[in-house]
Amino acid sequence: MNAMPKLIEEAIIDAFGDRCPETVEGCPCCDAWGEYDRLVSARQGAFDEIIEWHRKNARICREIAKDDPRIGDADRKRAGQAAVQHDASAVGIARLAGRR
Ligand SMILES: [Zn+2]
Repeated sequence: MNAMPKLIEEAIIDAFGDRCPETVEGCPCCDAWGEYDRLVSARQGAFDEIIEWHRKNARICREIAKDDPRIGDADRKRAGQAAVQHDASAVGIARLAGRR
């Protein structure tokens, strides 16, 4: 996990303490951790969508880069470069999201 969730975890621990051994309805500590879990889950979902978008576009660009003779040399070369950049973006964003 990277810096942003870590800071929020520390703020919740400061304000409410560690997670309760069991989730109790109406407990402010459990409510805070529940909100935190929903936030982390939504954040992971957003990262997943962005990563998948870059992977999908990398695949499309690689297809275009091989589409000879329908696509001209210059455009195939540009598509190949775009594929590399989309792959790199997917890897970089996965790291940002705390994946490996
Ligand atoms: Zn609790």
